[in-house]
Amino acid sequence: MKNRFLVSLLFVLLLAVVVAGSFVSSKLWTPKVKKIEPVKSIVINDSMTIGQIGAVNHLNKKILKSVFGIKDEKGFKEKFVNVGIPKEVAINRIKVKMALMAENKTKNWTKIKIKFILWILVLLTMFFLLRSGRVRRNNRKLIYLGVVILFGVILGSEPGPMGTIKDSIVLFGEYKTLFLPRLISLLIMLLLVVLANKFICSWGCQFGTLQDLIFRLNEDNKGKPVFKRFKVPFAVSNSIRVIFFIIFTVIALNWAFDIISPINPFKIFSPALFGIVGIVFVAFILVLSLFVYRPWCHFFCPFGLIGWLFEKISIFKIKVNYDKCIACGLCEKSCPSNAMKAILRGKKIIPDCFSCGSCIESCPTKAITFSAGIRKSPPKGKFDKLDNR
Ligand code: SF4
Ligand code: SF4
Repeated sequence: MKNRFLVSLLFVLLLAVVVAGSFVSSKLWTPKVKKIEPVKSIVINDSMTIGQIGAVNHLNKKILKSVFGIKDEKGFKEKFVNVGIPKEVAINRIKVKMALMAENKTKNWTKIKIKFILWILVLLTMFFLLRSGRVRRNNRKLIYLGVVILFGVILGSEPGPMGTIKDSIVLFGEYKTLFLPRLISLLIMLLLVVLANKFICSWGCQFGTLQDLIFRLNEDNKGKPVFKRFKVPFAVSNSIRVIFFIIFTVIALNWAFDIISPINPFKIFSPALFGIVGIVFVAFILVLSLFVYRPWCHFFCPFGLIGWLFEKISIFKIKVNYDKCIACGLCEKSCPSNAMKAILRGKKIIPDCFSCGSCIESCPTKAITFSAGIRKSPPKGKFDKLDNR
């Protein structure tokens, strides 16, 4: 039997390991170029040659060639006034090129490649484990811990599923451009959602799995909560998530300001980047995770919202075989969110399902599977008894 003291101790120990480990590992992975300040003002006069524009603004030949359409060395001696590009257009193009160059140079590409390869391997393994019903209470927490250590503590805060959407919107707001590698990452993440129901959030996201692990620390050996848990109605959590997404997007697109950055919880894996506001906010989210399932995912995460929309067309997902189902309700009781309640009753709006497998494990007749195909509706009145209990 776990008591409250033990749960609190495990919680503190986990966070100490995560923060201390991430602090050390983020130092080891630091890219050669940490940050390139975006260019605020570009100097261009009609009388300048392209070469002079490059020299005054510290632009390399590659940028000059692509901005001014230069084909050979002679082009650098051409006067700006003769190139036929309006000054504002040229300045904007230079800023975009510099921003993309900064994105490129500040990334640790080796780490990013390793992370994507490991993501695919881990998700494939989890896919087979979940389908064969081998994700159970005795190993689920260990798997989450492994994912947090591997994709968070060791491989860091970036990339993460959330950043693919958040940073794309912020960059577009600032420079009206998109960073191709990030767009490709986003497409891969969304493809994973379409293939297997938010699997990247379930078993790959470093912060999502940390919240899941914390939530599951708060239970005894039989799976009963030690501290009281709360299921927030999906209409409430999703409305907050939609409003937050709209506010974030409007501010990012109109004022090029990233409101998530100061509170970005993924920075727990790069703790040196936190300010005081971030520390307070993330501490709040992590403590809340003991009582509410994945609060950041349900209330704030932009990828959580977009992933939830894409979940609707997922190929593999949690399904119920109503011929085997005896309407005992154990699955919805074991589900950490409101997802199983809606799935079981064949509702049109299904809250986020994080493919944790708790419902599969709890079903006494093996009526629940993680399988491909369309969900069927339950026979009329099947759950009347359960609803009237
Ligand atoms: S919804 Fe949760 S699991 Fe998914 S990207 Fe956001 S933080 Fe990660
Ligand atoms: S329905 Fe609930 S219990 Fe089942 S996999 Fe989804 S989140 Fe987990």
